[in-house]
Amino acid sequence: MYHFDLALAALPRHDNLREIEAILPTLKSKGYTGIWVENNYLDDESRNDKVANPEFPGNWDLFNLFDLTFGKKRSAYLPYLQNLAALCRRNELGFYLSFWMPRVNSEALEYLRAHQPSAIGVSDAHLEKSVPCLCTCSNGGGLAFISEMIARLFEAIPDIRGIKVATEDNHALLCDPTCPNAHGTTRAAHAGNLFATIQQAMTKASPQSRLLLYPWFWRDGYEEAIFSRLQDGYMVVTKYESGSLQQIESGIPAEPLFDSSIVSEKPGDGFARWCGKVGASRIIDMVPVGTGIDDFFLANPPYPAGCSGGSPRCENPGYARLWISSAADTQRARPKRSSRPSRSRKART
Ligand SMILES: [Zn+2]
Repeated sequence: MYHFDLALAALPRHDNLREIEAILPTLKSKGYTGIWVENNYLDDESRNDKVANPEFPGNWDLFNLFDLTFGKKRSAYLPYLQNLAALCRRNELGFYLSFWMPRVNSEALEYLRAHQPSAIGVSDAHLEKSVPCLCTCSNGGGLAFISEMIARLFEAIPDIRGIKVATEDNHALLCDPTCPNAHGTTRAAHAGNLFATIQQAMTKASPQSRLLLYPWFWRDGYEEAIFSRLQDGYMVVTKYESGSLQQIESGIPAEPLFDSSIVSEKPGDGFARWCGKVGASRIIDMVPVGTGIDDFFLANPPYPAGCSGGSPRCENPGYARLWISSAADTQRARPKRSSRPSRSRKART
């Protein structure tokens, strides 16, 4: 029972892998092809790191590539992820990771100051003050450090099928032109450097692995700068309904849906544009159907009613889906369709 070539489930919060071991066969039977891991449920300290997580203190931390490759806690994180990947392999499920890049935390900055000072750049962030970041300028040392982190990651976890990479939001800040390594280069050029570096390092480590681009928060010029640097083999994570109009009541002008939404059942402009740009076969529709970190504001969504109800979108979609469902939701009775609107802003989507 496969609806899509790629259907990735996010895992529910858990304390140990025994809980997940019991869930994976269910995911497989429901048609999922793999899981993707973004949230760090292991560590209560890191989510209060004020450098890495200044906007959402107390929220789940996002796994940081540095923590898995150079950080002091990698001896705890890596066995967890390795065992998780092994469980996936046993259940014939793909294993995917997700990183906001080039996000740094206190420990990463401390390490770089001591060992790789040229890898520290400068960004003006959206806090309107200069902050240190992991340098993404071609003349700095940050890109080589990112390559090294990717190499270490794949060496430790060869089973990784792909990595979803996003930038700028969640304090994954790129260098701006004030970085001493910038020499007149733009933030958009640094975005191109970042994605090209990650893709090249992934391909070198595992030629079959796929870079999943997530254009959330891309600024003007990023798209051109990034795509001019990419090789084949990437996919684009989009949100089908984002930007589509939701008409709730007659007489009240419809508003475009901002983010993950499942209420208009219409494609937004962005989705159609991405399909046209990269082809439907490269598109992953990121659907909020569960209780993961990405759907705080969408309780009990009705999606994916179309999968069994015969929606044309689901019968022959031509694109893959990045499910945000948790296993618990797949076992829960499907709620009745509602017209609950999405909120205007949410964290770390
Ligand atoms: Zn820089």
